[in-house]
Amino acid sequence: MTDFATTKAMFHLPEGVIYLDGNSLGPLPKAASARVQKTLSDEWGEMLITGWNKAGWMDLPARLGDRVGKLIGAPKGSVVLGDTLSIKVYQALASALALRPERRVILSDTGNFPSDLYMAQGLARTLGPDYVLKTVAPDDVAAHLNNEVAVLMLTQVDYRTGALHDMDALTRQAHGVGALTVWDLAHSAGALPVDVAGCRADFAVGCTYKYLNSGPGGPAFIYVAPEHSQAATPALSGWLGHDAPFDFELNYRPAPGIDRMRVGTPAILQMAALDAALDVWDHADIADVRARSIHLCDLFVRAVESTCPQLQLASPRDGTKRGSQVSFRFKHGYACMQALIARGVIGDFRAPDLMRFGFTPLYIGEAEVTDAARILSEILETRGWDRPEFHARAKVT
Ligand SMILES: *Cc1c(COP(=O)(O)O)cnc(C)c1O
Repeated sequence: MTDFATTKAMFHLPEGVIYLDGNSLGPLPKAASARVQKTLSDEWGEMLITGWNKAGWMDLPARLGDRVGKLIGAPKGSVVLGDTLSIKVYQALASALALRPERRVILSDTGNFPSDLYMAQGLARTLGPDYVLKTVAPDDVAAHLNNEVAVLMLTQVDYRTGALHDMDALTRQAHGVGALTVWDLAHSAGALPVDVAGCRADFAVGCTYKYLNSGPGGPAFIYVAPEHSQAATPALSGWLGHDAPFDFELNYRPAPGIDRMRVGTPAILQMAALDAALDVWDHADIADVRARSIHLCDLFVRAVESTCPQLQLASPRDGTKRGSQVSFRFKHGYACMQALIARGVIGDFRAPDLMRFGFTPLYIGEAEVTDAARILSEILETRGWDRPEFHARAKVT
């Protein structure tokens, strides 16, 4: 059993704050501060460029890939870290499309994160006018899977409502019509058990600064199913994805296996932070995390619904059908979220009217859940949100 007091003690959480936004940016693991400091002073500071070999910087993307891979059911050597998630979406989709050269349709849904859709649109434009991105309502995805679809590209957990796609069933159905799958696990990795190998996903991508707590701008990951790893052609053919980067050949030859999904020089400071952040998982079992997360989300839904009639639940009521977040609709959601933040309860807002609350048992317990719900109901009862400063929109919401 996971001891959540132990995991909580591994994070730096500011005094007086209830942090319900780990689904956007995880908090600072204490070990990450020390580790980044050590990388700066002992490695960069003392080793200079020799750190690429001596400190193992060059192998870090693959070593971290195996650590992240364990959390998503990926076999050793099938995941690599680097770049940002948007870039990894592009890479995975481009490779998947190239494996279905006779087909032209990318199928996705309107619940997908816009950057994933934008990257698909940009890629389709590059590939030619006959490529199309078809975007349907989340519940209609299965009905639109047919033998014209080259790639089914979905984010498992809807970033707004938290609704969870059935990854196993949709992957099976996609394969049934000859399509490949690209799964975005941005809101899944570190939030719920995922088994990319078990459900035979073809490609999967995700970020590490949400539930894996690598810090702002932390590296993304990409998984390529072993059966595709020698056939997948990288669209972003950078030198570190080359078979022999330090031979400096004039022509690109992909590295064998997952290394070909590397592009350029890895961000070592961010990767060092991630390496330390992943130590939390030496003390946490993802099945325990999932069970406790459902419990905390249910508790929050019950508390809010019984005291805040102004709010409307936007997430699935059944905890097994949503990720690790709960969203409520409220016309004045933006201002209300600012009022909450002013009282130390940090969630976020997604246009047009969603107040979003992420729960992760690694550092959130029942006391925080009930306190947050109580503060929310006080703000609503007193219209505490209706102040000019809470209506002013910041750049990041
Ligand atoms: C958070 C998130 C992103 C962000 O992509 P970056 O390139 O890391 O900024 C993309 N897609 C999904 C589904 C996300 O949840």
